[in-house]
Amino acid sequence: MTICLGLEGTAHSFGAGIVTSEGEVMSNVWDMLQPAEGGIHPREASQHHASLGPALIRRSMDDAGIASHQIDLIAFSQGPGLGPCLRTTATMARTLSLKLGVPLVGVNHCVAHIEIGNFESGFLDPVTVYVSGGNSQIIAFAGGRYRTFGETLDIAIGNMLDVFGRHVGMQFPAGPRVELFAKESSNYHSLPYSVKGMDISYSGMLTAAKRLFDDGIPLPDICYSIQETSFGMLAEIAERAIAHTKKKEMLLTGGVARNNRLTEILEGVANRHGAKFHRVSPALAGDQGAMIAWTGILQFQSGATLEVETSQVIPKWRTDEQDIGWKP
Ligand code: AMP
Ligand code: MG
Repeated sequence: MTICLGLEGTAHSFGAGIVTSEGEVMSNVWDMLQPAEGGIHPREASQHHASLGPALIRRSMDDAGIASHQIDLIAFSQGPGLGPCLRTTATMARTLSLKLGVPLVGVNHCVAHIEIGNFESGFLDPVTVYVSGGNSQIIAFAGGRYRTFGETLDIAIGNMLDVFGRHVGMQFPAGPRVELFAKESSNYHSLPYSVKGMDISYSGMLTAAKRLFDDGIPLPDICYSIQETSFGMLAEIAERAIAHTKKKEMLLTGGVARNNRLTEILEGVANRHGAKFHRVSPALAGDQGAMIAWTGILQFQSGATLEVETSQVIPKWRTDEQDIGWKP
């Protein structure tokens, strides 16, 4: 059995999770930077990781009930993400790997969001809807890689929700608050619905939604309209992906997977195409270390370890730039 400690630190959150090769999540702890005002500053976020990381790593071992010498493998989020955050996290991972004398594995953060969903659902070959603060992609496995079938051409859906939230005075992260307000209304105000082929765009609707607020439209109405429009766009391209690929599973992953309305809409799409549906559970949906640890184990088993000298972070690492050696 291999015990892997996974470190996640691509953006606002630092997480440490311990997972075994037998599929047991022994621990999973994280902390999300909550700026008093404004958005996430990369340097502030990296300082957050540096100051809280060591204690979180210790806590992950305490929760798992293991000592450091029982760890067989260190995995870390090598990219994509904010440079300063990635570098801080990589430094902790390298230090641990050298100190404990165990191999080091660099994990693609987006691939980890998919693999933790496969882990939880038992799916082998889903169309994945990966929606978070930094990404909005429809992904499916083909020819040895996770291929992006469609994605946002500008901002991610989570970022759109967070920036709108900041404009109207909500705390970060705004996604859950937008969801609560949306429940109070069913008055739809028109917002730009922007689907271009298999790609989508959210910046136009963000601008329009802010304008609705400035014009005095009630917040629940706007939140309802934002959700119906932005989720409808995702559903359209997800439906096209499942219709074309004829895959029989649909996976919803990433922080925005916590949204119940989005889940309901995509579940409807999957049902219409006779596909099974799974939404990653809230504890594994956002950025956390267990997904890095689990993907680290898969990668390790396929022989993909790193030397410290060549473990540079990859801030713009795309999902489809990695060979997935552990899938047939
Ligand atoms: P991640 O980047 O994967 O950690 O996910 C964080 C993003 O998920 C932020 O943009 C949040 O606003 C968003 N989020 C979290 N919960 C919800 C929710 N219930 N509905 C919509 N978005 C959410
Ligand atoms: Mg993420």
